[in-house]
Amino acid sequence: MKDRKRMQEMLFSAKDEPNQAEDASKQPIKICSESESSATETFNNLNAKYLGAGFSEMLTEKTKVTVNVLVIASLLISGMASLASGQTIVQCESCGMDVTLESQSRYRVTDGNRNTHLVECYMCALALINDYESLHIETVCDWYGPDFPVTVDSSNYGGEVVVSPLTAMFLRGGSCVTARAAYNQTAADNLLSEGFSQFTSPEQRYALPSSTQVKLVSEAIEMWYSQPRTTGTSTPLALILVAVIGVTIVITSIFAYRKLGTRSRQTEVKT
Ligand SMILES: [Zn+2]
Repeated sequence: MKDRKRMQEMLFSAKDEPNQAEDASKQPIKICSESESSATETFNNLNAKYLGAGFSEMLTEKTKVTVNVLVIASLLISGMASLASGQTIVQCESCGMDVTLESQSRYRVTDGNRNTHLVECYMCALALINDYESLHIETVCDWYGPDFPVTVDSSNYGGEVVVSPLTAMFLRGGSCVTARAAYNQTAADNLLSEGFSQFTSPEQRYALPSSTQVKLVSEAIEMWYSQPRTTGTSTPLALILVAVIGVTIVITSIFAYRKLGTRSRQTEVKT
């Protein structure tokens, strides 16, 4: 009986599986006349579900405990499994929204150390440029589709940017679902008037607001997303100068020492 009580407590503390508990309470099967509490009833119902009404009476205490342990173990395992699957939901590095598999394949962002960064729209991808010394961003045209890739290679936190194709445009509608990448001006014009195409991510099929800003990707990065680290330019220059002077001094002193050496040897030969 003590064991049963403990199992009961464990069972209820491990009740991570709402479906099974719900099912059990939906179809109450009365097997015991002793109704201490509603908790005991649910417990017995669960017992009945796994053992069959009446049958549980025939089993020895030992078997009951074993079966209960198995039930608890299965509940714990399923609970842990759901927890683990919950942890696989990834968030956009820029805005914190969920990144779907669609977004993961659509926006491929890697930094100079080949680390992948997950984002859920093109605006969020560009927003990472000032966070990494170098960044590679790959997506496809939201109007023409996968045969028209748009890539950005940024270095010095967006200070130097190479966009392919040069005609690629960025449409900034003001939110994640109204951000678009366009292969060229025609694609940008169409996106601006139609909002999206069959190639636009299903999550983003919304009309674009009239306030949408349209720029070449390179210009957009320069204006909104780059943050080149220029503060240190004078320091490296001074450092280089000091280094050059230092090296010159060392080299001349080595030559001077060698000359001194040969001279002294010459004098040695003479004497
Ligand atoms: Zn976003």
